[in-house]
Amino acid sequence: MNQHQNPSSPRRALVIGASMAGLFATALLRKAGWSVELFERSDIELFGRGAGITLQPELHEALMESGADASRLGVEITERIAIDREDRVIERLTYPQVVTSWDKLHHIMRARIPSEHHHLGCNLDSVEQSASGVTARFSNGRIEKADLLIAADGYRSVVRDLYMPDVQPIYAGYVIWRGVADESAMPKSARDTIFDKFAFFLPPNNKIIGYPIPGQDHALEPGRRRYNWVWYRPVDRETLETMLVDESGTYHRLSIAPPKVRQDLIDEIKRAAQDRLPPSFSDTLMAIPRPFFTPIYDHFSPKMVFGRVALIGDAASVGRPHIGMGVAKAAADAQRLAELLRDASVPVDQALAQFEKERLGVGLKSVERGRALGQYLLLPHDSDNAAHDAHWEEFHSVHGILKNTATSDFLRAD
Ligand SMILES: Cc1cc2nc3c(=O)[nH]c(=O)nc-3n(C[C@H](O)[C@H](O)[C@H](O)COP(=O)(O)OP(=O)(O)OC[C@H]3O[C@@H](n4cnc5c(N)ncnc54)[C@H](O)[C@@H]3O)c2cc1C
Repeated sequence: MNQHQNPSSPRRALVIGASMAGLFATALLRKAGWSVELFERSDIELFGRGAGITLQPELHEALMESGADASRLGVEITERIAIDREDRVIERLTYPQVVTSWDKLHHIMRARIPSEHHHLGCNLDSVEQSASGVTARFSNGRIEKADLLIAADGYRSVVRDLYMPDVQPIYAGYVIWRGVADESAMPKSARDTIFDKFAFFLPPNNKIIGYPIPGQDHALEPGRRRYNWVWYRPVDRETLETMLVDESGTYHRLSIAPPKVRQDLIDEIKRAAQDRLPPSFSDTLMAIPRPFFTPIYDHFSPKMVFGRVALIGDAASVGRPHIGMGVAKAAADAQRLAELLRDASVPVDQALAQFEKERLGVGLKSVERGRALGQYLLLPHDSDNAAHDAHWEEFHSVHGILKNTATSDFLRAD
């Protein structure tokens, strides 16, 4: 039942996608007095997935606002360093930050949602709108009606495809190889050089970064933590297509799930690391049983609101991971949306219009910033043709990369 049928009942929202954007939206809208149902296509809980996340101020604020337990959120680091091929520190920057894991954040936010409102195995197929609200249809036959539908269904959003089919993820020309190593499995020399730091190795057209994150069961005690290891590597489109084929010969469009990455590709990245990376980074990779790769895409939807449907998080826009803003932007979208929808005397359409007006700009700035930082990865023939923006020199310097990676400071700069 929706508000148009019974004005005295709470307004009702459907949230599609139970990853970060969906969990924050559900928790915060419930707190704002809405009745909310959250639908996830996965049949199983998303526990135990993901890797490292930097805790930006926007994310911390949304966690506090949602009433989550924000104590012991992650590993506190104070310094960023760049090392050379021989593990010598060539640049230092004091930059206190808390770094955590996707799984830890998921665990905290999942605990905010009562299970009777969290529905697994519900794949959204279609959305219809009428004067009285929205109707969502799911592959399992379920049909739900509400005053509002929030699409938190990620960068391949089904909902966005319905309203903005031309907005598609754009391949950046590089992939990230990543994985997490147990602190106890890293050699002492690697631990001593990089473990408690946000560390960088920056050969031409490649970025290798790493930082500590909580361990299994979110452990923060020394010896039980893990190290989040990332290598940004240029890969042309043709090669990428071959990498997206799994051991059985099946091709995966856009991206491939970590367990399906072929062993020959894992062997190759390990060989390349031994040939080209400093010992601390290559030895850490050897301690990661199954590194995997993710192609980097970005996109920007010039609209976030379509009648009673709002896009948030990655469904609306994705900035490349150099800025470390994926979860923070998703959480901040959800927080602002819930704030604007709190006052029941304000018409929903008016609140949604204000939401789009405020949050579109943040999405655009994030996409542009991610692209500017990503220019470092361009191969020589690409960089000849690239428009050199105002940040070109800074984002090609070691100091500039240390200062501008995984930070949302740019949003507050002007
Ligand atoms: C399992 C998992 C692990 C991740 N790990 C990391 C990490 O370690 N580091 C990092 O930086 N980012 C990670 N991400 C991405 C990160 O969550 C996002 O970049 C960011 O938080 C914005 O999240 P989002 O909720 O908008 O989108 P996503 O996180 O992409 O979530 C979209 C959700 O919608 C669901 N969904 C999609 N289509 C439908 C449909 N039709 N019906 C119902 N549900 C649907 C998906 O199953 C998914 O759970 C991970 C995402 C997932 C899903």
